[in-house]
Amino acid sequence: MKTFLRLAGLIRPFFWWMLLASIAGFAATGSGIGLLVTSAFIIAKAALQPPMAALQIGIAGIRFFGIARGVLRYAERLISHNTTFRILARLRLWFYDAVEPLAPARLLSFRSGDLLQRIVDDIQSLENIYVRVLAPPITAFMTAILVWALIGVWSPAAALVTLAFHLAAGIGLPMLTARLGRGINVSIMKLRALQQVQMVDFTQGIGELTVYGQLEGYRAGMQANEEEILRLQKKSSWIEGMQESMTGICMNGAVLGVLLVLLPEVPEGKLSGITLAVIMLAVMASFEAFAPLSAAAGRLEADIHAGDRLFEIIDAKPEVTAPAKPLPFPENHAICLRNLSFSYPGSTEKTLDGVTIDIPKGKHVAIVGPSGGGKSTVTSLLMRFWNTAPGELSIGETDISAFDPEELRRNMSLVSQRTYLFGETVRENLLLAKPDACEQDLVSALGSAGIGHFTKRLDNWVGQHGMQLSGGERQRIAIARMILQDAPVVILDEATASLDMPTERAVSRTIDALTAGKTLLTITHRLHGMERFDRIYVLDKGRVVEEGSHEELIQEKGLYQAMWSLQHMSAAPSS
Ligand code: ADP
Repeated sequence: MKTFLRLAGLIRPFFWWMLLASIAGFAATGSGIGLLVTSAFIIAKAALQPPMAALQIGIAGIRFFGIARGVLRYAERLISHNTTFRILARLRLWFYDAVEPLAPARLLSFRSGDLLQRIVDDIQSLENIYVRVLAPPITAFMTAILVWALIGVWSPAAALVTLAFHLAAGIGLPMLTARLGRGINVSIMKLRALQQVQMVDFTQGIGELTVYGQLEGYRAGMQANEEEILRLQKKSSWIEGMQESMTGICMNGAVLGVLLVLLPEVPEGKLSGITLAVIMLAVMASFEAFAPLSAAAGRLEADIHAGDRLFEIIDAKPEVTAPAKPLPFPENHAICLRNLSFSYPGSTEKTLDGVTIDIPKGKHVAIVGPSGGGKSTVTSLLMRFWNTAPGELSIGETDISAFDPEELRRNMSLVSQRTYLFGETVRENLLLAKPDACEQDLVSALGSAGIGHFTKRLDNWVGQHGMQLSGGERQRIAIARMILQDAPVVILDEATASLDMPTERAVSRTIDALTAGKTLLTITHRLHGMERFDRIYVLDKGRVVEEGSHEELIQEKGLYQAMWSLQHMSAAPSS
């Protein structure tokens, strides 16, 4: 109920439009009643062979109601759909605005297919609430009052019979439909969400599935899901068919009931045959307003479920928010971690445990250590993907939370191991870093990143996730982005780890040349060319276990020296 009221509340700015749609709907149904009533009048009257002039008023009525019915129904659909689509467009923007700050921390628990389902299908299904749930009951109520009043003038008993069948079609049947269909549409929705997730996983993992021979098995799983959806859809169609025929039964019941009440009055002369025919058709036409109610009730549970899924995202609190009065990124942007600890939400283990690291402005610092030691977590905290506590993480002696996270990210270029390239052209992927870059900027960035030949391929499609490029080319595009962004701080998080050794060395040389004079933090577990760093921190199990220059650490004969020897021993035969 709470979700329904929240969804209904969204139409507040469009209240008058919705009311207008209901009135137009009522006027269209009223015209339908008028059309049948005047038709009944003409047919019944014509049977008595009156002079033509006596039929003129009826003929004019048919013309008027016939045209009015079509025009008013068109107006009702136009207004209600226009309003609904405007509400849905607002909802989509609202949803997107809510999703954006949740990335990446809060979105880790959602799968991309599921998010896609929410933003496309769930929002779309709310159309039902606005078009079929909110306006039609008002239309039906107004129509019913009109018909009761019309019939009541001739016979209160007939009006009561009509009321009883209206209640059955307008309240009883929707309740029955909702009860019979309970859970079905929600299950269809859940299975559709699963299908979406499966499709995304399937398209992204098709390479792995093929290599491991799991294509058939995966396809069978998707097929089973599809069959279950079909089974439930059949059930839902059955209920829909039942509900439509029950509405017809209610209509015919009302006609029969009213006939039984009024028929004896005709021979008594209390009611003319023509009036009886007019009343019969008015009763029949009034049910047009009740038909949509049961269908809407059958889907209501699923629509509310869709609303719940949307509000789950909209109500989620972002991990990191911008302060009310953010400070500008400081000129002296020395980065300082003091006794910093961090645990991921839901985990009791300390990923970082009292870490102290200094990265002075303009210096090149490396954090090295075994996998899982917490190195990338330092990057995530610096990029403000997560909040930090307890301990201190400051830039230019000001706590990191005093800056706007977006401003921070503009001033700190991150090149990570997993470069994400959009399925666009090389140009589009580069412009991400600097939307107003001119052709010359792009050419020079590509040249500096060592892929000058890409200038001829600027408008080539890079494939889904950049799959038409080699790993080295993708990393170099990431470096070209970094050059375009031209931030004072550069963070390289295992940026070259996925490259073969000669390419890695070439890319590292390029990066060194480009970051001269900038503040550089390199995170790596591969120890080569470490002499070029001003200071190296060794992170193991969330703690800084050693620090110093390459020579000092080799002298220390600790973890660093062990890692270095191991890597250089294994690298020796191939170099
Ligand atoms: P490194 O970069 O040194 O390999 P990470 O910082 O990536 O180490 O990871 C350190 C630990 O934190 C690992 O045990 C990893 O499983 C855990 N971890 C990393 N990211 C998350 C996350 N988003 N949620 C929960 N735990 C995480």
